[in-house]
Amino acid sequence: MATKTVKQSPSHLERTTAEPRDDTLHRVKLTHIDPVNPTIRLFQLSPILEPGRKPITFLPGQWLDVHVPGIHKAGGFTITSPPSLLQPPTNYLELAIQKSPLNPPAAWLWQSPESILGTELRIRVGGSFVWPPPLKESEITRVLFIAGGVGINPLMSIVTTLAIQKKEKGKLGFHVKFLYTTRDFEPDVSPSDILFLERLVCVFDALGDEGQFELFLTSGQRERDETEIATLSVTGKQLKVQRRRIYDTDLLDALGPVEERAGTVCYICGVPMMTDEFVEKAKHAMGIDERNVLSEKWW
Ligand SMILES: Cc1cc2nc3c(=O)[nH]c(=O)nc-3n(C[C@H](O)[C@H](O)[C@H](O)COP(=O)(O)OP(=O)(O)OC[C@H]3O[C@@H](n4cnc5c(N)ncnc54)[C@H](O)[C@@H]3O)c2cc1C
Repeated sequence: MATKTVKQSPSHLERTTAEPRDDTLHRVKLTHIDPVNPTIRLFQLSPILEPGRKPITFLPGQWLDVHVPGIHKAGGFTITSPPSLLQPPTNYLELAIQKSPLNPPAAWLWQSPESILGTELRIRVGGSFVWPPPLKESEITRVLFIAGGVGINPLMSIVTTLAIQKKEKGKLGFHVKFLYTTRDFEPDVSPSDILFLERLVCVFDALGDEGQFELFLTSGQRERDETEIATLSVTGKQLKVQRRRIYDTDLLDALGPVEERAGTVCYICGVPMMTDEFVEKAKHAMGIDERNVLSEKWW
């Protein structure tokens, strides 16, 4: 008699086995937990300083192997904060973790905050989806970010770093375009429920005329007019929202004029179908050097 086998999806360690990772395992303390919405929580991890030990360093876009007590295999979660927040006086790394009863480290982190705050965790930095890109910064004319759902996480660390760089130098020297698509919320959108939306509006405010942010909200079951455009008040600013998915034409427009695309760098991190489709389109777009199309997969 044939036995039915249930195919287990690979763990984070199996998915990222070919990725570079640091050789040091660092001790950190879980210092803050903030809910964003019913399915996403923000976590702050602060280093436990040990004399003579290498400090934690990372590049914007990298993730952590996170070892939680009692679970043998590490979970994999992306750092959403910029490296500067790991310096005094803030001293922390931030993660945004989706509720997932199936993934043991995520389930551990979704216990009641009171029962896990102050716990010591072990982390290791890894990943190659990072800022700066392979193209020399002086040759970059445009950076396009495309985020879908929790795929915003690595891109949040990168754009925040760019906003800090702009503040320090007064100018980036290239244009930053950001297309963010996520699920709409019923019955009306609460901007604070959308992961990092308020933060992104502040980042693009800081980038001024060197940045442009566009939000696309897609509905779950609700049937919508595909072309619906609305405005959302976010941190006192009116943000134009398109209630549709990101089309190929949005991607091609955002890559810039064909004759200028040698200086375009594109970062894509979204949901499965969307990421593969956009990576293929961007890599084969006229004028684009496919080495400048970077993507991260979580599955
Ligand atoms: C590079 C990268 C970055 C990521 N960044 C984030 C992020 O920032 N935020 C976020 O919420 N998610 C992130 N993820 C996804 C996260 O690691 C989990 O995949 C996620 O929690 C979804 O889990 P799941 O319910 O789909 O189960 P899966 O992770 O698909 O696990 C399925 C099954 O595999 C087994 N399994 C998986 N992991 C373990 C483990 N560590 N120990 C024991 N058994 C295990 C379990 O039996 C589980 O039922 C990232 C993943 C990758 C690869």
